[in-house]
Parts: sequence; C-alpha cells; structure tokens
Amino acid sequence: MATKPNTTQKKKEPNQVSSNTRDKAQAAKDYIEKKYSKLKQTEAERKEDWTELNKMMAEMNLSSVEQEQIKQEILHREAEHLRKKRQKITVFDFESIKIIGKGAFGEVRVVRNKHNGEVLAMKKLNKTEMIYKNQVQHVKAEREVLTNTENPWIVELKCSFQDEKCLYLVMEYLGGGDLMTLLIRKNILSEAESRFYIAECVLAVESIHKMNFIHRDLKPDNILIDNNGHIKLSDFGLSKNAEINASSEVLSKLDEDARHKKRIDERNEYRRNRKLAYSTVGTPDYIAPEVFSRTGYSELVDWWSIGVILYEMLVGYPPFYAEKPADICHKILSWQKYFTIPREAKLSPAATDLIRRLICEPNTRLSTSEEIKAHPFFNGVDWERLRFSQAPFVPQLNSEVDTSNFDEFEETEPFYPPQTGRRKQRKDPNFIGYTFKRDVEMQRTGLVTALEELESIRASSSRQSTKYVPSSEDLY
Ligand code: ADP
Ligand code: MG
Repeated sequence: MATKPNTTQKKKEPNQVSSNTRDKAQAAKDYIEKKYSKLKQTEAERKEDWTELNKMMAEMNLSSVEQEQIKQEILHREAEHLRKKRQKITVFDFESIKIIGKGAFGEVRVVRNKHNGEVLAMKKLNKTEMIYKNQVQHVKAEREVLTNTENPWIVELKCSFQDEKCLYLVMEYLGGGDLMTLLIRKNILSEAESRFYIAECVLAVESIHKMNFIHRDLKPDNILIDNNGHIKLSDFGLSKNAEINASSEVLSKLDEDARHKKRIDERNEYRRNRKLAYSTVGTPDYIAPEVFSRTGYSELVDWWSIGVILYEMLVGYPPFYAEKPADICHKILSWQKYFTIPREAKLSPAATDLIRRLICEPNTRLSTSEEIKAHPFFNGVDWERLRFSQAPFVPQLNSEVDTSNFDEFEETEPFYPPQTGRRKQRKDPNFIGYTFKRDVEMQRTGLVTALEELESIRASSSRQSTKYVPSSEDLY
C-alpha cells in the first residue's frame, strides 16, 4: 500500500539517518500534529455547542433548574464517553474461535468479543517481524486506510491495539472466504461471473484511488467475499512484495539470509499446495512490471493487477505462472515476450481486448476508472446498483461462526500471550498512534446528542402549537 502522490521513489542519500529512525521520527511527528489539530478542533466545536445549547434552552424558556439538570446529564455522558475512550482493549477481551488465514506477519482468526458476543476477524501482526522486514510504514498505512473510511468496498476495522509483541487489527468477519478460495473451487469462471467480480473490483479500486491510495498488492486472496457474495478489499499495506520496493533498499546480511531461507520455503510451499503458497509467501504474480523497476509508478499498477486477475478467472491460471517467484518476476518484466492468451480458453473479443488494455505498458494502459467502465466487456453493468445486485455465488452459511469457506490451519501458538504481571505497558515508539476504537471514536459526545434531542423537542412542540386551520372539507 502506498500513498498516491509518491509516484517517484526516493533514492537514499549517503550519510542519511537510517530509514528506521526516519520512519519513527516521522510517525511521532505525524501523530502529534494530528492529535493536536484534532484536539484544537474538538475544543472549538465543544465551545460552540455549549453556546448553542444555552441559547436553545433560553429560547425554550426552560427553568434554571431544568437547564441545570440538562447540563449535569451532559457532563455525566461526557465523562462516561471519556472513561470508555481510556479503557484499554486487549486480546483478553476476545475469545478465539478458529484460525482462518496465515500470512507473513501472523495469523487471522475468527474471534468473539466477550462483552457483546460480536463475531469478528482478528489479524495479528508480529512487531519484530515487521520492523525486521521494514514494513512499519506499511502497517500504519493499512490501519490508516481502514480507519478513515466508511467505504462499502473496504473491510471495516472495528479497533486496533497492541501489546509488547504484536499489533492487532480487529475487523468485521466476512464469511464468504476470499476470491482465491473461490477460484480454486470453481477452476474457471464464466465471462458473466468474471464481469461481476471484476466490475466490483473496479469500483473498489476506484474508491481507494479517490482516497489517494494505491493498493499495489491486489490479488485474489486479498479480495474477500461478504455474506451476500459481494467483494471487499483487505490487506492494505502489508504486501509481502512491498519489500521488493525501493523503500527497503538497504538489506543487511541478516536480511539476505532470511530472504534466502524464505525463498526456499516459498518453493517448497509452492510445490505442496497452490493456495497455501499464495497466502503465506505472497506471490508476485499480480504485480505490475513498473513496481519492480525503480523508475517510479502510479495508481495504474492496480489496473494491471485487475487485468491479471481477470485473465486468471477466465483462463484458469495467472499469465506469468512459474514455480519460482524469481521466474515469475522475470516473466513479468519481459511481459512482451511471455504474455499470451491461449486460444483454447475461447475468450470473447471484448474480454481479450480488456485484458490486453490492462496488461500493457503504463502509457497505453486504460488509465481511469471511467475509461475502464466504458469498455465493451462491461456492457450492461449497472454500476450504481452493482453492490445491491444478486451475486453469482452467495455463500451458504449456517451460522455467524461458519468458517467452511476457509482452509484449515494448525494452531501453532497460544491465542493469549503469557501475562507479564501488572507492569504498565511502555509506549512503543515504533507504533505510536496505532490504537483505535471505532465505537468510541465514532460515537457522538453527550453534548451533541443533547443538542439534537433538544432540537427535536423544540420542533415537535412548535408543530403542536401551530394554529389549526380547518380545511374546506371540515367545514361542510
Ligand atoms: P496477509 O497480510 O497475511 O496476507 P490478509 O489481511 O490478506 O493478511 O489476511 C490473510 C487471509 O485471512 C485472507 O486471505 C483471508 O482469507 C483471511 N481474512 C483476512 N481478513 C479477513 C476478514 N476480515 N474476514 C474474513 N477473512 C479474512
Ligand atoms: Mg493477503
């Protein structure tokens, strides 16, 4: 995941501070600035609201006793809100139901919130691994993109928190599995079925580009299917392939060893099981060639990935398929030499043309969502109502904790970390500002709700007091 304006990659100057230190300093600075400006804004709004409230109470001719009661009630609600905000969420607030995914930094589980029974997905990320693999900025981008929106195309983040070892992202649980699982089950999709998924992907990608983000790691296992069969994007910024990017240019000897070992693991995984290989090591299959080169790239990289996904849906395997990730990269970089659409796949001219207009050099690639949506392959798609239409495959779930659309994974480490006494947790300078609680953050304060309540009382009483004017029917 990357922010959009970053179209050219920075070169590291000699004698520059390490990228790790720079990341930390930048993160602290961003956090303080954001928090301070939010505080200032909240304070100003609060003042305005109190003035408004006093005015309204006076206009409504409330007695001073009544006014005082309302103010006390508001202060009480505000205190309650603050108390909730300060309450720390920990992994002990959840119970684990099942592991449904394993990734480069940890596992994803279905969990239940012990307090309200809500079923959720929890992604756990190992801090050391992330620092080690230079992914700190990326995990922050992920948290950022997930919190900042109420975007129907993005998996909703409920809260995020951390302990000494791990970061946790608690999201809504999508019971339909991911698109990779669907592709494995179905082998190939019809053009009509592919049109649905790709059209939804186009809208999803369009929406994140509007937020100024580039996904960069779009692939079937990062496209989740909700209980109605519609898609949502997940996995923002934790792309294992991001390490190919220039942001992690300095690799120590240690890193090299780890990479070598990882590559061997990757190959073995690949042999064992296609799905497992894809989800745990992160294949470069879907990455645009310009992401590998250090000459810079734009949001067009996501449209290349969409082209690759469409190809795979219709043909049955991705276009640059190879056993070793390095060979895949090679094929992508020399795509002109390796890219073909097999005649046996019997693709329609529209599908063939769309794929060719996406898997191509950036300067000839379809470049805006408008251009893509207007392509003949999508003829007949009702873009406005797509998300509310009937999906080609609707998951048959028999309970809210049904995990039948996910693979089985072995439990390798306990869900709860060992408790280290009551020692207060030290703030981790690498992950300042990571914690988030949607319920509390999005909840209105007592003052705002009181204002709204008063407004509605005033509106209904003024309605009651309007004079009754008899209509002509009443008179006769
Ligand atoms: P990674 O960075 O390890 O690839 P992902 O966020 O892609 O992590 O999650 C790994 C897998 O876990 C996904 O491919 C999907 O199968 C499953 N998963 C992740 N988030 C959810 C969720 N909110 N609901 C259901 N399944 C999920
Ligand atoms: Mg993933």
